[in-house]
Amino acid sequence: MSAFTGKYADELIANAASIGTPGKGILAADESTGTIGKRLASINVENTESNRQALRELLFCTPGALMCISGVILYEETLYQSTAAGKPFVDVLNEAGVLPGIKVDQGVVELSGTNGETTTQGLDNLGKRCKKYYDAGARFAKWRAVLKIGPTEPSQLSIQENANGLARYAIICQENGLVPIVEPEILVDGPHDIERCADVSERVLAACYKALNDHHVLLEGTLLKPNMVTPGSDAKKVAPDVIAVYTVRTLQRTVPPAVPAVVFLSGGQSEEEATRNLNAMNQLKGKKPWALSFSFGRALQASTLKTWGGKVENKEKAQAAFLARCKANSEATLGTYKGDAAQADGVSESLHVKDYKFKLLDDRLKIHRAELVKDMKKQWNL
Ligand code: 13P
Repeated sequence: MSAFTGKYADELIANAASIGTPGKGILAADESTGTIGKRLASINVENTESNRQALRELLFCTPGALMCISGVILYEETLYQSTAAGKPFVDVLNEAGVLPGIKVDQGVVELSGTNGETTTQGLDNLGKRCKKYYDAGARFAKWRAVLKIGPTEPSQLSIQENANGLARYAIICQENGLVPIVEPEILVDGPHDIERCADVSERVLAACYKALNDHHVLLEGTLLKPNMVTPGSDAKKVAPDVIAVYTVRTLQRTVPPAVPAVVFLSGGQSEEEATRNLNAMNQLKGKKPWALSFSFGRALQASTLKTWGGKVENKEKAQAAFLARCKANSEATLGTYKGDAAQADGVSESLHVKDYKFKLLDDRLKIHRAELVKDMKKQWNL
């Protein structure tokens, strides 16, 4: 049998393509109750339903922001929430032409016999949950698999298990009308260099697309959400154009042109760093048969959250911060970002390593970067 041809096939293709509309990307606002609790704790706000609702309303109702957004990933609680005035969030999004999405995985558990590697849970009853979410207005889904880079990681077991889990999830979503976002996140943690991240990313993505094919997933009705190819968090940083060359090369080698869009996660990069890296990819010449866009969580929300601080009187300022990031990332999907959102408070602060300042590193790496890019371009005829 070939790829999925069930009743939702045309709708899946149309919705996946619409999420990949140039100039737009995804807001990942699907933090679980535990994760959003950590974000709220960082601004001394209690993790209550009303505070979670207030934060999500602030984001979704920022004037102008949804023009830069094609989809919003929600957590189950948020899918059923409304604005303070009583309008369902799903209606707010639909009226702005934004597709509501839903996180359907149920977190990770350790794979026995490995060095802390994991598999993602949530396949039991997934079909029933997808149907329920579709009825509530969701049109796409997210499932996060997590892999790590270590001396002997990721293991073959972890690569195979996570690829198979993503593929099984993807076909269940398609059977129920949801576009699956396939997210094999390779964590940035570690001292490895960019070459190693590229090598691991290639192996993981190749395994994922083999599994998706084995499970008869309709690739035109899917999206890929990968990590960008970068050095590890404890290694020397490299500049956006180097990250762009390595990331695009990795995708060229593994992601079929049938996939309409690649929507990157930000994975602890600073807001500005994530935007500049995406911008560099879209400026790069060469074969890019997919839209290259964003599905950022932290890199769209960090400065907004800080500016808001849970206080009603800061709402407008916080919305201005959010709009600035949305616009910057929208421009980055077109390769036209000029760096004009870089001056705002906190946007260059790494969300993974404290005190990382982009500009200083940029200056320091100028020579190294120029050499590397020249080398890479020659090697891959870019
Ligand atoms: P970050 O952009 O904060 O990595 O989150 C995106 C996401 O949805 C991870 O699953």
